[in-house]
Amino acid sequence: MKNIVILTGAGISAESGIRTFRDSDGLWEEYRIEDVATYEAWQRNQDLVIDFYNQRRRQLVDVKPNAAHIALCRLEAKYNVHIITQNVDDLHERAGSKNILHLHGELKKVRSTVDDKLIYDLKGWELKKGDVCEKGSQLRPHIVWFGEEVPLIQTAGELSSTADIFIIIGTSLNVYPAAGLLNFVPTLTPKYLIDPNAKDNYYKPNLTVIKEKAGIAVPKLVEDLLNDDE
Ligand code: NAD
Repeated sequence: MKNIVILTGAGISAESGIRTFRDSDGLWEEYRIEDVATYEAWQRNQDLVIDFYNQRRRQLVDVKPNAAHIALCRLEAKYNVHIITQNVDDLHERAGSKNILHLHGELKKVRSTVDDKLIYDLKGWELKKGDVCEKGSQLRPHIVWFGEEVPLIQTAGELSSTADIFIIIGTSLNVYPAAGLLNFVPTLTPKYLIDPNAKDNYYKPNLTVIKEKAGIAVPKLVEDLLNDDE
């Protein structure tokens, strides 16, 4: 079986109603990154950070996977599929995809502030000040904040280097090190970038840029790949 590796970003969840990061109606028009998504913010104002992620988690209850998340699952009938997502939502899981690596953490998990290995599934959407780990320290969102290390980047790089086909969906390719994963993909591997706002001057060998919304373009590409005779 051929390996398909898929890198997804906030754009794949946009049609489910989750706002992206840098679009004009993006989330970060309302919030400053440094106030809610850095370790310094956490040290300065835990209430604000907890509330920000509680709102994001609460929103998950009302949204559903869209046609793009759902179509990707169909590839598993013919390919060995791995999804590397920058998203912290759980829409790939809920659509039914099997192998999902969350590079930037997961909204539905929380972790200890004294021991990174103590990670818990949060019941419900609300993390409260005073919720502690088994060692007695305040729990924090299980999110990779700006300026923090990305523990799974090496695994993601190794996966990318095995890709026979590499598909990028809905990411501005602005956030490193995730954006650098393309550099691990073998030169001859066919690559697809699906993003309505993809830059015109973005060039990589064997890259096909599809400037359409994920909900339209992903099901079409999946159909083509399933019908591919190779
Ligand atoms: P980004 O916001 O920087 O880029 C989103 C991209 O999606 C843009 O290039 C935009 O043109 C594209 N897009 C918008 N609508 C689309 C659609 N319908 N179909 C396809 N593409 C569409 O997001 P990023 O590159 O993923 O980087 C953002 C960071 O923000 C990540 O670290 C992620 O953790 C975080 N984030 C996650 C979520 C989520 O979990 N759903 C949402 C917002 C931000």
